[in-house]
Amino acid sequence: MKTNIDPNFLSASDRDRADAILRSCVHCGFCTDGCPTYQLLGDENDSPRGRIYLIKEMFETGQVDAAQVTHLDRCLSCRNCETHCPSGVAYTDLLDIARGAIEQQQARAFTSRVGRWLLRRGLAMRGLLILAFGVARQLGRLPGLAKVLPVRLAPHRSSRAPKATQPATQQVVLLDGCVQKAATPGVNAAITQLLALSGVGVVRVPQESCCGALNYHLGDHAAGLADMRRLLQTLRDAAPQGAAIVSSASGCGVTLKDYPSHFPEGDPDHALAQAISARIVDVVELFRDHTIDAAPARVAVHTPCTLANGQQLVTNVAEVLTRAGLEVLATGPQLACCGSAGTYSVLQPKLAAALQDRMVTALTANGPEVIVTANIGCQMHLGAGTQLPVLHWAELLWQQHQALPAAPEAKAGD
Ligand code: SF4
Ligand code: SF4
Repeated sequence: MKTNIDPNFLSASDRDRADAILRSCVHCGFCTDGCPTYQLLGDENDSPRGRIYLIKEMFETGQVDAAQVTHLDRCLSCRNCETHCPSGVAYTDLLDIARGAIEQQQARAFTSRVGRWLLRRGLAMRGLLILAFGVARQLGRLPGLAKVLPVRLAPHRSSRAPKATQPATQQVVLLDGCVQKAATPGVNAAITQLLALSGVGVVRVPQESCCGALNYHLGDHAAGLADMRRLLQTLRDAAPQGAAIVSSASGCGVTLKDYPSHFPEGDPDHALAQAISARIVDVVELFRDHTIDAAPARVAVHTPCTLANGQQLVTNVAEVLTRAGLEVLATGPQLACCGSAGTYSVLQPKLAAALQDRMVTALTANGPEVIVTANIGCQMHLGAGTQLPVLHWAELLWQQHQALPAAPEAKAGD
């Protein structure tokens, strides 16, 4: 694709990157069929190819118009188009550059800008989140109120100690995240117990801050990069040397693994970003070599875009649960994304609800007792669309492990 980007519209580095990405697209359209918004709306402007044209037009004219903003805002950043593209077009990078330009040009209405600012600031306040989710959890226990709350939260159960642990021979850093720590604190408690069964000890990082995904993907690149640098430096100073750094929310994990792309050669944090991101693993990667026994249950597995497309961990959760003895059910035909997509369910509620409905229908096609996922946003969004419990897969695994009958006590002299 030939390009002629307005030299005044983007920074030199963004211009070079956007130019290279735009030139790599050959307009073949192989990406369109896998795009959830194109499948729902049937408009070329809501497909990846259409959005690439809109971005090119924006960069070449140096003008942002309302239609461009509308169609780009409808994109979920699910990356399914990237998995279908034979030319390796880095669509998400291009979209992020465009979102940064829209933010810089202040192209949205004033009320929309204020709403997005409040969302960014509110979700970054951990203390406030913990308080708000704590209140919501208590209200959810009240008969009648659970049905009208916008999200359904699993009660935080305090776990029993593991039945049999091995002495810790390995140590990992377990990240708390922002929303997950507030909304579902039981997830990391369950993971800690499960890892103890396999002789893996867990350490936490004091003063852990946001990974930067929230600000960056909402177009505030300066704030997003500042968040990323802060977390990089905290991990450099506080994480034990060489220990794997484990994320249990795939939306955060994909951002952390992607840090080197934000700190190119010449940046003072380039080497640090490479060193830290090389140590990031999703928690499911730790269970590749560990089998946990569990009582049976019929499970539907939802694989978030950030795990499947972002980290190429497509079948891992199903494999871990199947090895543990759970019955992982086939699901019905589904679109690539559940509609949660970070703040998408707040900013695009109608589309998010349509995607949620399609995903819940697919996941419940064969009558599961429980749905599991691997990202807090998906867990809350899916949970609001079904009466079935929706858990992080590790919570279910720990719950079913605890449900196993106790082994008979060995008698003296045996
Ligand atoms: S599949 Fe790739 S090359 Fe083809 S139109 Fe889509 S982004 Fe462009
Ligand atoms: S990231 Fe997802 S929603 Fe956006 S264009 Fe690609 S496939 Fe469509």
